[in-house]
Amino acid sequence: MTLLQARGVTKSYGPTPALRGVDLELGEGRILAVTGPSGCGKSTLLHCLAGILRPDAGEVHYRGRRLDTASETERSRLRRDEFGVLFQFGLLVAELTAAENIALPLLLAGHGRRESRSVALDWLDRFGVRELAETVPGQMSGGQQQRVAAARALVTEPSVLFADEPTGALDRLVGEQLLGLVVELARERRMSVVLVTHDATVAGYADDEIVLRDGVLDPGGLGIAAGAIG
Ligand code: ADP
Ligand code: ADP
Repeated sequence: MTLLQARGVTKSYGPTPALRGVDLELGEGRILAVTGPSGCGKSTLLHCLAGILRPDAGEVHYRGRRLDTASETERSRLRRDEFGVLFQFGLLVAELTAAENIALPLLLAGHGRRESRSVALDWLDRFGVRELAETVPGQMSGGQQQRVAAARALVTEPSVLFADEPTGALDRLVGEQLLGLVVELARERRMSVVLVTHDATVAGYADDEIVLRDGVLDPGGLGIAAGAIG
């Protein structure tokens, strides 16, 4: 089943479009890598798909319903209940402990304090960082922060995870361990993933790959992930 579909998505910040007429489909449980050189529009595409930016033209459909023209209330609801986001830098709340950061999306979704905390601790376990429960981000390594950020992105069990260079700020080994875990958890839950990256190793975790050049899909794009199945 197709979860997300983009048709002719176009977005400009200034005179030159950052994205021009991009089409794609994301199936349930599929991992899609979006690759291409820096500045080709990968993040802009991710933001349009995730209901963060509104395209200037074209359409985005989520589970068959228009997302790009949906009300801000509906887009917020989808971002809260159906989507998870993981960026290059975790963007954790500096004043909150790891457990509190991970519990936050559950509290915002209306779950109780005790339940939210207990689920947050389970996710810390899954990422192998239970001992960080009472630690604030400033006292963690970059890799630890990104594990906590990944746990926070997954704690609501989203249908789609949007990951933008999730390992871009990490050492290779630390990054691959993190990505391996995220992909394993996504596969277990039949979660779909949009994985923006310029790194061939990272793209190699995906089932499919699309290549952007100057805001346009490269049709013959062999991509950088030799292992990607079309
Ligand atoms: P990528 O993720 O592939 O590096 P981006 O989507 O971030 O590409 O950027 C695509 C183009 O749009 C680039 O030329 C970038 O400088 C420009 N751009 C991105 N965000 C903004 C913004 N908020 N304001 C103006 N220009 C932007
Ligand atoms: P990425 O390539 O992952 O988007 P960047 O460092 O290019 O990372 O962008 C970080 C932030 O800055 C994003 O919110 C993006 O929209 C914004 N940005 C990128 N390029 C520009 C630009 N030329 N002018 C203004 N904002 C930009």
